[in-house]
Amino acid sequence: MIREEENKQEAASLDSLCAALAYAVGIEPPACSAPKNEALAAYVDEALGGEKADRLILYNPDAIAAWISEKYADFLAPVTECTEKAIPLQAVMPSVTPVCFGTMYTGAQPQVHGIQKYEKPVITIDTLFDRLVAAGKRVALVTYGKCSLSRIFLERKIDYFHFETGGIAAVNAKAVELLLRDEHDVIVIYNGNYDSVMHKCGPESAKALAELRVNAHVFAVLARLVETHLQGHNTLLGFAMDHGCHEIDGESGSHGLDMSEDIDICHFYRCYKRKEQGGA
Ligand SMILES: [Zn+2]
Repeated sequence: MIREEENKQEAASLDSLCAALAYAVGIEPPACSAPKNEALAAYVDEALGGEKADRLILYNPDAIAAWISEKYADFLAPVTECTEKAIPLQAVMPSVTPVCFGTMYTGAQPQVHGIQKYEKPVITIDTLFDRLVAAGKRVALVTYGKCSLSRIFLERKIDYFHFETGGIAAVNAKAVELLLRDEHDVIVIYNGNYDSVMHKCGPESAKALAELRVNAHVFAVLARLVETHLQGHNTLLGFAMDHGCHEIDGESGSHGLDMSEDIDICHFYRCYKRKEQGGA
């Protein structure tokens, strides 16, 4: 379809995100990173008036496809209403979680970062986390269960908040706590609830869409906290999924293929400019 082809041409590879995030916080991108996503970099420059973000809050929901974001836009309204910039991206192949998050936080293609199938080794090449630590930034990674994000970026000098039990409630409570404590420059938060239910029940099942709605409201809470409690900072907040998904046989879901449903995703970002303390 022509429209799909046009959309594909507009969307940059997910590998462009990492250098744009590095640019936003004013640090060097990882060694093997692709050039920065110009649309996101331009948005940050405009929104912060040329200043850098000193806080980066990234909410990583799993498997929310662009076609789901579009078809169920009402469900995502809490996200789109509190963000300003949509960034269409294309996940990398195979479009599975560790491969895509590997690319998101290294800026490198899978053959470069080393995870080329569903496996969760520790990535050994330079990552955004390494660059942040080298720049003196304090980073928190908040994860649960057996998720890829809790495994593939281990062995860095960052603060790992991992919950074997408690699921996304444990993760999101910790994320709120960290936001209020305001001791970390960067907080990465993983929520895999939509992905889990999507696999079992299908991407458009009532149960999966309920989880999508949960993700949207959790993000809106985080956005509200940034607005009310991080007023002394320039903050970049992102709703940043890893890949999409597709339906199988009408009753379950999957991803990993080189098809628009699995590859095309759309991130949402918002910059919050520092407010003068005690000013008029
Ligand atoms: Zn995933």
